[in-house]
Amino acid sequence: MEAQIDRDPSRFRVLTGDRPTGALHLGHHLATLANRVRLQQAGLDVVLVIADYQVITDRDETGDLPAVVREVVLDYLAAGIDPDRTTIFTHSAVPALHQLMLPFLSLVTVAELERNPTVKAEAADAVGRQGRGMSGLLLTYPVHQAADILAMHGNLVPVGADQLPHLETTRAVARRFNQRFTAAQPYFAEPDALLTDSLTVLGHDGAKMAKSRGNALELRASEDDTAAFFRRARTDSARHITYEPEQRPEVANLLRIGAHFAGTTPEALADAIGAAGAGRLKDVVTEAVVEGLRSLRARRRALAADGAAVVGEVLARGNARANVLAAGTLTDVRELMGMTY
Ligand code: ATP
Ligand code: MG
Repeated sequence: MEAQIDRDPSRFRVLTGDRPTGALHLGHHLATLANRVRLQQAGLDVVLVIADYQVITDRDETGDLPAVVREVVLDYLAAGIDPDRTTIFTHSAVPALHQLMLPFLSLVTVAELERNPTVKAEAADAVGRQGRGMSGLLLTYPVHQAADILAMHGNLVPVGADQLPHLETTRAVARRFNQRFTAAQPYFAEPDALLTDSLTVLGHDGAKMAKSRGNALELRASEDDTAAFFRRARTDSARHITYEPEQRPEVANLLRIGAHFAGTTPEALADAIGAAGAGRLKDVVTEAVVEGLRSLRARRRALAADGAAVVGEVLARGNARANVLAAGTLTDVRELMGMTY
């Protein structure tokens, strides 16, 4: 896939995004943001959805959406997303996208959705940790994602290995739509996965870093808060620092973060620290992260000074383009389904 991208980047429209449940954190930076900027720079058409309807898959309140959306867009821009090249839109501003979900829902079975491992994991979290049932919106999350991707005719979707089942749903929806409504000439292309090999970044408590767990280092955090985050970070009782992801996940997590920003490998960083222990490791990682995020944070502060206006303008342009794309797709779909009167 990378070879094809190199050969003809303009052939690809990348579709990906985030739920506006909080400002973005170090996990997003390592797992997704840096890669999106890379694809944008390579000349692909990148489309980012801020999935505001998806906020209520697993919670009752939408929260202060305008404020959170503003933080997420500022994180994008500070990380190097360029609104002249990348489209940023919010779900709720693009009605045609959601209308596509109705025919798409007819193409999947409840059993298929219930088997989806990501839906299962999110449901386990909703039911187990939060003590609530699985909502219909959570169950149909992969179909909503199919609507995001296919409305925009995205043909490349960056995914971690754990998200491959989502893309399978999108591919199945595209395939089945073609079979059912336009057998003579396929309308939707089945999008390809761009596998990202990023590992899960852990929060200070040793669990997966997540906005809603209160264990995250936000990209916008101050240098003091960054130092405090790593001081609190859990390690283990072995003094000598080694890179052993299976046996020592917390230490390995710190080594990966430090190595990413210091431009080295976790193994080399472990060797360099060795007997100096976890205290030294935390100091080194703090320094690397503060240095590595310095320019992002400076850009972010500069943008935030006029944040509401900057973000309003970016979203107005992004939503306008997304509406054109989605409305075009919906018109085609209604025609193919014989729904023009
Ligand atoms: P929430 O707590 O609201 O679920 P979150 O922090 O888990 O928020 P999401 O919006 O669910 O963030 O995640 C969006 C994408 O960001 C994920 O699909 C994943 O690719 C990436 N991501 C999020 N957190 C991490 C993490 N800790 N490590 C690696 N990747 C992450
Ligand atoms: Mg999450």
